[in-house]
Amino acid sequence: MRVILLGPPGAGKGTQAGLLAGSVSAAHVASGDLFRKHLGEGTELGKLAKQYMDHGELVPDDVTIKMVLERIGAPDAAEGYVLDGFPRTIEQAKALDAALAGQAQEIDLTPLIEVETEELVRRLTGRWICRACQTPYHEFSAPPATPGVCDACDRELYQRDDDKPEVVRARLETYERQTAPLVAYYERQGKLVRVDGEQAIERVTADLRAALR
Ligand code: AMP
Repeated sequence: MRVILLGPPGAGKGTQAGLLAGSVSAAHVASGDLFRKHLGEGTELGKLAKQYMDHGELVPDDVTIKMVLERIGAPDAAEGYVLDGFPRTIEQAKALDAALAGQAQEIDLTPLIEVETEELVRRLTGRWICRACQTPYHEFSAPPATPGVCDACDRELYQRDDDKPEVVRARLETYERQTAPLVAYYERQGKLVRVDGEQAIERVTADLRAALR
């Protein structure tokens, strides 16, 4: 199963991709997490990516495409994957389609998780994430049992630099300008299904599972 979760920042792609991938033994491939890993390791790619991430802008297509195509070529993605945060431009989508076509493969489905802008801002600015396992929490709607500590692995939670209000606004604008056109792109391929992302997490997961069946 090869799936792309589409939707704006804060729609719940990371949460849902993690749940879906876990239940169908597919790899969860999140381009933002890959960049943050590079950043943490201080690689050249990490340093380059940071310049864009700090401003809510997209990292250039060439390096992003190379990084993600390499990742989905890894053995744990051979049975399938749930892509989260990639593609984010038409050029990335075309590069992915071309790479898959070269192996007689294709994307099966691209669910779009829809959430109103006001709700996205509320979610992103209150978000806390585990440094170790990336589990997301929210200070109001999904707080951890102990403040600042991950329920799943007991490690420290942190707030992403790019979840600050001014960067959040820039990220949402970037989404509208560069990523939203992907909706029509996958609609034309007959792969788009719309899911209401303002429901409870379990309801969204159930709708996604139903779509995938
Ligand atoms: P995310 O964790 O998906 O919200 O991504 C965090 C940041 O990483 C984005 O705001 C971009 O700067 C960068 N990024 C992640 N995925 C991509 C992508 N597919 N193309 C370009 N930049 C990306």
